[in-house]
Amino acid sequence: MSFQDSLKHLLGDEKFRIVVEKISTQELDSNMLSNAVDGDEKNAFLINTGQVGHVRPINALEAQVLNYQLTRYPLLSHPTEFHGFIAYHNHLKKYRVYFGASDQPWPPHPDILLNQLDKDLAVGWKLVYHLHNHYEPVTNDYLGILAPSLADAEYFRMLSEKYDLENALITNGIHTVVIDSGDFDQFDSH
Ligand SMILES: [Zn+2]
Repeated sequence: MSFQDSLKHLLGDEKFRIVVEKISTQELDSNMLSNAVDGDEKNAFLINTGQVGHVRPINALEAQVLNYQLTRYPLLSHPTEFHGFIAYHNHLKKYRVYFGASDQPWPPHPDILLNQLDKDLAVGWKLVYHLHNHYEPVTNDYLGILAPSLADAEYFRMLSEKYDLENALITNGIHTVVIDSGDFDQFDSH
């Protein structure tokens, strides 16, 4: 059973539809932004009012990376966050995925991945995406928000400055938000 089917089964069809719509919308009134009570809410409103980023269904590569982690620890019963770095080589026309995750809610420090990335960037690879997943507890209907936390925003900026990251991706298993590095400064960070 896929993550999407499992979630539908847990929430029921109607609630599933409402929750997915609420999390993925980019049509909230832009006035909501001035009502944000903190940086996390501001970051979410930037996406949900459509000011920043593009929300679309999860794609095949993202689903493959997420499913790799979910075969180890199912997201709905043992939630974990993974990191993925996706590099592309123009001449080889190949993608390379660097993946880090554990049995813990937070991903491990990506030092090993970044060391390898450093070497690869020096020989023609380009860091096109950073991908990670968000989830929520059962009390909040499981589905993760499609916006960067304060820590995420800070991390994206570092990746842009040091590794020339082009886009950040955050997925909740149903939708993914794509954020261009030129928009990273709009988000609140630590
Ligand atoms: Zn995050």
